[in-house]
Amino acid sequence: MKVTAIKGFSDILPGEVEIWQRVENAARKIFATYNFAEIRIPIVEKTELFSRSLGETTDIVEKEMYTFADQDAKGSLLTLRPEGTAGVVRAYVESELFKTEPVQKLYYLGPMFRRERPQKGRMRQFHQIGAEVLGRGDPFIDAEVLLLLNDFFSATGIESAALQLNSLGCSDCRPKYRQLLLAFLREREQALCANCRRRMERNPLRVLDCKEPGCIEQTKNAPSILDSLCDSCRQHFEIVQRLLRQTAVRYDLNPRMVRGLDYYCRTTFEWTSNQLGSQSAIAAGGRYDGLVQELGGPAIPGVGFAMGIERLTMLLHSKRSPAPVGPVVYTVWVGENARDWAFPVVHRLRQKGLSIEIEGEVRSLKSQMRRADKLNASAVLIVGDNELDRGVALLRDMASREQSEIRLNDVEGALLSRKAS
Ligand code: ATP
Ligand code: MG
Repeated sequence: MKVTAIKGFSDILPGEVEIWQRVENAARKIFATYNFAEIRIPIVEKTELFSRSLGETTDIVEKEMYTFADQDAKGSLLTLRPEGTAGVVRAYVESELFKTEPVQKLYYLGPMFRRERPQKGRMRQFHQIGAEVLGRGDPFIDAEVLLLLNDFFSATGIESAALQLNSLGCSDCRPKYRQLLLAFLREREQALCANCRRRMERNPLRVLDCKEPGCIEQTKNAPSILDSLCDSCRQHFEIVQRLLRQTAVRYDLNPRMVRGLDYYCRTTFEWTSNQLGSQSAIAAGGRYDGLVQELGGPAIPGVGFAMGIERLTMLLHSKRSPAPVGPVVYTVWVGENARDWAFPVVHRLRQKGLSIEIEGEVRSLKSQMRRADKLNASAVLIVGDNELDRGVALLRDMASREQSEIRLNDVEGALLSRKAS
């Protein structure tokens, strides 16, 4: 019986995985440049971590989490992480990182889980590269995070990434905006979708995030949050924008962008691409000054983002597919004595860092040469029992098609010098 993968969960096979590695390596490099350290957090957390930090009326918490009973603790629930920020902040508070050094610039990379309708660019297990800066409330770090993303897109060749920027205000000014918006929405309540009507009173900002055409139409002329910002939020936001102008990062203001999660405040942003169809968001994030305290830590501000690796790789696929990287050297042997000579030699070469392949089943010379071609080998080491008797092997360069005879004792040196060149 054939067992298949779960709907919305997929394999990343060789041929595809090379693009992933390219993206991940580019990310690690950029993070190092900006002085971020990697953090690895668990994939399963207590459910309350997410309901408390993301907010009870968010799509993720209401309907998208993979939650199950904890067999070890009666009545308590566990959840496969739907995002990374909550776990990173929990770790920061739990290990009291703030006691030794309150400013932490952290990044992570790995799978996330949301029970959404699977479609192009939307998976149930998907992967994010994310970063969180804890302990800095100044606008310079908001700009730094945006510059990091901008540099990352340039480095990976993603030219279509466009930045949308907003400010969600703070606990001083947002409640006033909330009232303004609520008054506006109440007048149009009947024309909103059932979901928006249901959670409008508790969370009116969420209506601006609704993708229903009717709700988009009804809220076209909703009051802008940017008109309600208090002086200090306005100043903060102006500095962020000034820094982006100074560093030539293009952006558009989008006062409707409220982001899906409750923890955001002040600077929020989304990078989208017009080459992704309807799942156009590549990366998103913002400031969350209340979250550390909400999760039991001191009043320490934070700002971060997450980007979807699947969507990044979709953008890179459409550009070019890298040539598959095969073993650098392929070993062709004819006769079992030749194989028994070659096997330990191959092992020693691998220990010295040479990428080299050898197989164990008897096959014809011709079929082994075909295999070397298929694997894209740059060179082939050929040993037969005859050569062995004469104390030599053949080395064939696959690009120039030149073949030379080398003494068995010189094989390792010759191959290692190819590696160096
Ligand atoms: P969307 O509007 O596409 O649902 P989101 O606002 O839910 O995105 P975030 O929670 O901000 O997304 O996650 C950051 C990034 O992770 C997104 O910009 C996207 O690239 C990626 N992402 C989110 N959900 C999925 C998913 N189900 N499958 C693949 N990638 C995803
Ligand atoms: Mg979503």
